[in-house]
Amino acid sequence: MWVRKRIDIGWSDIAFGIAKSLWSDRRADIQQRIEQQWSHDNEALACLSVRTGFDLLLKVLQLPPNSEVLMSAVTIGGMVRIVEKHGLTPIPIDLDMERLAPKIDAFRDAITPATKAIVVAHLFGSRVPMQPIIEIARQHNLLVIEDCAQAFTGDGYEGHPESDVAMFSFGAIKTSTALGGAVLSVRDSNILAKMRQVYEDYPVLSRFAYFRRLLKYAVIKEISTRWFLGAVAQVSRWLGRDHDGLANRVARGFAGPRFFEKIRQQPSAPMLAVLERRIRLFDQHRLDLRAARGRLLVEFLNGSVVRPGADAEEHTHWVFPILADEPRRLMEKLWLAGFDATQGQSHCVIEPPDGREELAASEAQKWIAKTVFLPFTTDMPVESLQRMAEVVREECPRPVVPLVDSDSQTVDSHPGKNQPSTVAQQ
Ligand SMILES: *Cc1c(COP(=O)(O)O)cnc(C)c1O
Repeated sequence: MWVRKRIDIGWSDIAFGIAKSLWSDRRADIQQRIEQQWSHDNEALACLSVRTGFDLLLKVLQLPPNSEVLMSAVTIGGMVRIVEKHGLTPIPIDLDMERLAPKIDAFRDAITPATKAIVVAHLFGSRVPMQPIIEIARQHNLLVIEDCAQAFTGDGYEGHPESDVAMFSFGAIKTSTALGGAVLSVRDSNILAKMRQVYEDYPVLSRFAYFRRLLKYAVIKEISTRWFLGAVAQVSRWLGRDHDGLANRVARGFAGPRFFEKIRQQPSAPMLAVLERRIRLFDQHRLDLRAARGRLLVEFLNGSVVRPGADAEEHTHWVFPILADEPRRLMEKLWLAGFDATQGQSHCVIEPPDGREELAASEAQKWIAKTVFLPFTTDMPVESLQRMAEVVREECPRPVVPLVDSDSQTVDSHPGKNQPSTVAQQ
């Protein structure tokens, strides 16, 4: 069974973290080193998670109540929750799903006198060209915040030079993970100073908590072999449990109640030590390999599927989503062939506020409902990628086109499923 995702951390990093849990430098010293290494202009803040930093930013900004924050319509639930917690209204901006970029017209149309900021998420390992967004944002005096949680590429990209804030995550499922931790680039030195000041009063997560986390992920890493996880998933199916949901819950950070209490903490010294190491020793080769594997899989699919992000300018394939007319059916077919695909329950599509239904992100909604994430890890041999692509091509004999435009009907993309397809292969 090919598992959906591997935790991107080495045994040496885990061993290093365990050693640092016993003895490490002072927290403040490590934090300072990370921040200096990240940004020569003194613009970085290392913190517990992107959600921690984003919450801290909104706390310090003190935007007027009911201000509107435009957000890429696809994100993770926690980010929306944080905006609401500060008395602000999240407004979805529909995405051009082929480019995974906010639609410029939708962005322009959503701006009102109450709009104060836009949060752009770089999704699935792609990067949104920021220039056009920044130009409009400047005309309307909006703060530009880049959510780079899924887009760390170790190449020194700190967000577009004119964005106000860029946020990078090293959470458990992210690239080059430190099993927690994040770095924010904040251009305005006053805002950054205030964030620091508030953050210094937060409680510090215990070393022991991080030690336990290292052990937990050491176990997960050890057992996340194809065979073991295949067996676990099989047993949970026999028991009638949804193993897809289970697997997604295990990997979710800050789960359960008291979300805000959990994110409002500072990282311990050993977590920072691992974070520093993960950034300093970033494995560019591994990332290049991942991107190359992604391109290869695209080739094997041979134009027979529609992919979110197919037209993205830059893509390192953090995950590999495709569209399926019947996601469940495709997942079942893949499962039988030994590939554990998922619908990826951690992403959400933001709903517009009541009374402003015209802002609904219809393209994002339609696409995400049909999105399946293929299992995709750098250690999958080429033959397995090829086999997986074959299964997908059999199941999706022609491209799924989820929409023409928002007024007309959704196209029935499998009108003659059993007839030879005329568009499947270019
Ligand atoms: C993971 C993720 C976050 C949250 O990152 P944490 O560091 O875990 O808080 C935010 N936005 C997106 C798009 C993410 O994928």
